[in-house]
Amino acid sequence: MAIDTAGQTAATKTAAESTDTGRESFEVINPADGSAIANVPLDGPAEVAATVARVRANQPAWEQLGIKGRAEWLGKLRDWLLDHQDEIADTMQRETGKVRAEAMGETPYVTDLINFYGKKARKYIGDEKVPAHSPLMKVKKLKVTYRPYPVVGVISPWNFPLILSLGDAIPALIAGCAVVIKPSEVTPLGLGEIAEAWKSEIGGPDVFDVVNGMGEAGSALVDEVDFVQFTGSDRTAKKVLARAAETLTPVSAELGGKDPMIVLRTADVERAANAAAWGAFANSGQICISTERIYVEEPVYDEFLTRLLDEVKSLNQGIDGPEHGKEVGAMTFPKQTEIVESHVEDARTSGAKVLTGGRRGDGPGEWFEPTVLTDVDHSMAVMREESFGPVVGVMRVRDVDEAVRLANDSRYGLSASVFGTKRQAEAVARRLEVGTANVNDVLVGFLASDVPMGGWKDSGIGFRHGEYGIKKFVRPESLVITRFGGKREPLYFPYTDERRQKLRKITQFFNARDWRRRLGRR
Ligand code: NAD
Repeated sequence: MAIDTAGQTAATKTAAESTDTGRESFEVINPADGSAIANVPLDGPAEVAATVARVRANQPAWEQLGIKGRAEWLGKLRDWLLDHQDEIADTMQRETGKVRAEAMGETPYVTDLINFYGKKARKYIGDEKVPAHSPLMKVKKLKVTYRPYPVVGVISPWNFPLILSLGDAIPALIAGCAVVIKPSEVTPLGLGEIAEAWKSEIGGPDVFDVVNGMGEAGSALVDEVDFVQFTGSDRTAKKVLARAAETLTPVSAELGGKDPMIVLRTADVERAANAAAWGAFANSGQICISTERIYVEEPVYDEFLTRLLDEVKSLNQGIDGPEHGKEVGAMTFPKQTEIVESHVEDARTSGAKVLTGGRRGDGPGEWFEPTVLTDVDHSMAVMREESFGPVVGVMRVRDVDEAVRLANDSRYGLSASVFGTKRQAEAVARRLEVGTANVNDVLVGFLASDVPMGGWKDSGIGFRHGEYGIKKFVRPESLVITRFGGKREPLYFPYTDERRQKLRKITQFFNARDWRRRLGRR
């Protein structure tokens, strides 16, 4: 397949600048054409420790600002992001190989999230007054205040360089934490530009920074921070959790998926097919919640497949610019192309049919054609392991029960979609073992930041979005305040028989639920 790289600039001149620091550096490649676009200095353990120490020193003043003050600073970041959407999309395209429409999608998510948590933070993490349940405790005023983990480390992947890094940094900052992000070494540029703007153009408090490097920089960050927000593969998550265990540092982990779609016989088949194409091939299938396997009830299978193929064959693959027009971009990470290729080959040799696509696109750069497979089954890697690329397997099923059984037959449990009449599709959605189920739509669960988003099973520990998405960054501090009291409480010394008997009568009176016992009888 010929690749159109119109609208892409080749290499940037950052390569020369970063070597000026005298530190070791790593190269960032534009996956759409294979050109080197930047050289980024590596942060070793000493640099990571120094960055965390610096923001840690500034965190108490940030916490003191209160939710309103912090949200105002984030509002300045929102305005800057809105004013620089086009430049941000340029960088996103260069470092990820996304098409323009998808590169433009990162800013709206992040700016909406600033507004969402700016408005909801008080409700989710504001002080709470709690009435004591026991009459004996009524002499105390009970309050809960939510205090931030001082420094949160965010470790992020390459498929959405801003959404999956700033998207967690925002609630953490609004909660009063300082934040250090270690972006993927594959896509560090856009985030680096924003962190630089926070310092130099916005003039934000020095509580937000970025460190760069490979896994070692990530491990060093785990060692230094008080809470780790990790997004990536379950393989890396296990290393992060093991490392964090050494310092008893809590970790929230958003991991991979193998999202199923179920198409019921009552579905609007045309909508389901259009949604399937978008769910499977948006961002070249490199979304943790991409539709990777589809189960279609027998009576609508043929129509669904025909419509899906028509839609997929109409997609334009390549790279566009601000003029838009392409739908499927490059593969961001060369190793992922190898995984996708091996899944397709494994399926092909095990008897699957490749109805469209099925091979790498012509270079330069990293490309894989949108691929639809049938005659697949759960012995094949393409139906069991995360492909994280533009390939989807479609299976015919006898009935709802078979669809549900196959959908749940996975070590992953991130999200899913069900198409059918609202009532029937919701009933089926409730039987799925996933953190988010979309009824008559795909992917959108991630944009509903009001509700929790996270994985069951090997897809994660913890949730982002909604109340969970900010409360995980704070620790409750309970304030137990004495309203009144004499020089000595009944619980204090001395433990004389007289004082203990009195106490026993009082506790028995309040704890018993019948009058005999209240009055001290059996
Ligand atoms: P990855 O696990 O290879 O890397 C993620 C991050 O961890 C990178 O920044 C990497 O440098 C860092 N890292 C690597 N080794 C480390 C170590 N030992 N200690 C600390 N940090 C280390 O994942 P990836 O290839 O960048 O991203 C793809 C994966 O992310 C897929 O599995 C995808 O499903 C998942 N993902 C999940 C979500 C979600 O929200 N659930 C979203 C997007 C992507």
